[in-house]
Amino acid sequence: MRGDAKSMTVLRPRSAAEAVKSYAKVPTAMPLAGGTDLMVGWNLGVLNGRSILDLSRVAEWKKINVVSDGIDIGSLVTHSEIQKHPVIRKRFPLLVAACGTVGAAQIQNRGTIGGNIANASPAGDTFPALAVYEATVRVLGQSGRRGVPISEIFAGVKKTTLKPGELIEAVFLPFTDTAPTRGVFRKVGTRAAQAISKTMFAGLLFNGKGGVLAEARLAFGSLAPTVRRLYAAESFLKGRKLDDKTINAAAELMTTDVSPIDDIRSTREYRLVVSRNLLIAFLKGEVK
Ligand SMILES: Cc1cc2nc3c(=O)[nH]c(=O)nc-3n(C[C@H](O)[C@H](O)[C@H](O)COP(=O)(O)OP(=O)(O)OC[C@H]3O[C@@H](n4cnc5c(N)ncnc54)[C@H](O)[C@@H]3O)c2cc1C
Repeated sequence: MRGDAKSMTVLRPRSAAEAVKSYAKVPTAMPLAGGTDLMVGWNLGVLNGRSILDLSRVAEWKKINVVSDGIDIGSLVTHSEIQKHPVIRKRFPLLVAACGTVGAAQIQNRGTIGGNIANASPAGDTFPALAVYEATVRVLGQSGRRGVPISEIFAGVKKTTLKPGELIEAVFLPFTDTAPTRGVFRKVGTRAAQAISKTMFAGLLFNGKGGVLAEARLAFGSLAPTVRRLYAAESFLKGRKLDDKTINAAAELMTTDVSPIDDIRSTREYRLVVSRNLLIAFLKGEVK
């Protein structure tokens, strides 16, 4: 079956308040942002007969606002816009790198950060960076706004903890008190573009006094149904010097927090070996 636009009802709110109101009236409506994910289903006819909540006129959600303690990225901001923003480039380079690996230029020009999060793919490329930057997803519904830590927005494969009638309005990234000493994002896929990741990693290190680590933030995507911080390895590393013994012991703790599977893109074993090597190389300062 092909997509049949005539069978769909399109709601076109002109503000965030109108969007929430329309969604409350038609709770079965499907929100549409850049459409890069939805149009795949559209072409297959899965949206035939449905109502579409077209968010493209909600101007408030297309803005990037720099505030005193961080940056607020509207949910309709595209991956391309994120890559061009000077403050995001300076303060959150891992997110810039991640957005640069989403699909290819066409997808980055249309696909939005809000759509990426709401889609909740285990391979969502922005998630490890959002996890180490400890982003908060701000959602809006009929009963008001709430902030959801990125670690709590995903409920499983393609599932979020959004409540009925809630829409994502922005993602807030707090500035860190001190600049990280080291930061890396890496995506491992089959090709340079249009690749769904086999594994991806974001890491930040903050040095403390006396040559020990004050803090490590380490996150992997594609190694579990949802993005995972390596909390066990992070707490082991805190306050230690990064020698080979410590690094290897931290890498051994990876499987406390991740549990990759075999699928059409890769095997569990490959994912674990590559991810472990990536983590070790990052901690040794061999990937920049
Ligand atoms: C060829 C191709 C390659 C791709 N490659 C990658 C890749 O490498 N990495 C990657 O991470 N993704 C990839 N994607 C997936 C997709 O492009 C991204 O997830 C993109 O960011 C989705 O954003 P969008 O605005 O297009 O979302 P849409 O398609 O408009 O929506 C996606 C989902 O989010 C919901 N939604 C959208 N906005 C909101 C909102 N504000 N509040 C609540 N729900 C909302 C929609 O209802 C829908 O369920 C690819 C897709 C294609 C077609």
